[in-house]
Amino acid sequence: MNRREYIRLQNLGIAALFSPHIETEWSWSPSVERLMGIDPPKLFGQEKTQLTRRAYKAFNRMKMAAWNDGIGIRTVSSYRSYADQKRIFERKFQAFTQEGDSGEDAIERIIEYSTLPGTSRHHWGTDIDIIQAGRTVDGDSLLEEHFEPGGAFAALKEWLDQNATDFDFYLVYTKDTNRKGFNYEPWHLSYAPESVSLLKNYLRKEVINRVLAQKVIGYDHLSEARLNRYLEEHLLGINPKLLP
Ligand SMILES: [Zn+2]
Repeated sequence: MNRREYIRLQNLGIAALFSPHIETEWSWSPSVERLMGIDPPKLFGQEKTQLTRRAYKAFNRMKMAAWNDGIGIRTVSSYRSYADQKRIFERKFQAFTQEGDSGEDAIERIIEYSTLPGTSRHHWGTDIDIIQAGRTVDGDSLLEEHFEPGGAFAALKEWLDQNATDFDFYLVYTKDTNRKGFNYEPWHLSYAPESVSLLKNYLRKEVINRVLAQKVIGYDHLSEARLNRYLEEHLLGINPKLLP
């Protein structure tokens, strides 16, 4: 932050003191429950497209523009609650430990592909998984190969590469091999104007403490040190454009 920006922020802080009912973008502080998907934001959209108002409007504009270029966009997943993520995690934890994994090993296996409940970007209502409409694939549609040249969703991928950022949507888990955390996900986009600020708010001690304090099967095998490393690699191992 340069000096001018700093002074601007300070002035906003002073202004907020005199008018506490006016919420500036700078003073907005989402609750821990909001960040963890326990307390959802007001969601807009139908069926699988469930986003915050601003993200939904931007997504619709992008969808319309793609449509005008002959590309249909279909949503696979958007907002996911804490309860949704907890169900996925516990089911996998029980299956893996029954296969003979230790608790710690089961957690390592889960976080290769899934998040710990309370830590998913899908809890924020700003992130969305999409594929190309009107194309069918056998089995899992969220596979890298479908988005590669020659794949079923290659035209969508090409369109997104050229246009998504015009609508403030950015790829989160890029193809960069130096990146840690989750694997490349060409289908997962994030609405930067809101998600950057949410991520900044997320990185607080009270959020980490609350994640650990939840009653989740398997969490007695999750240490604070492991959670911290996970957050550093999985939450911050993203497209630099989305870092606060
Ligand atoms: Zn996703």
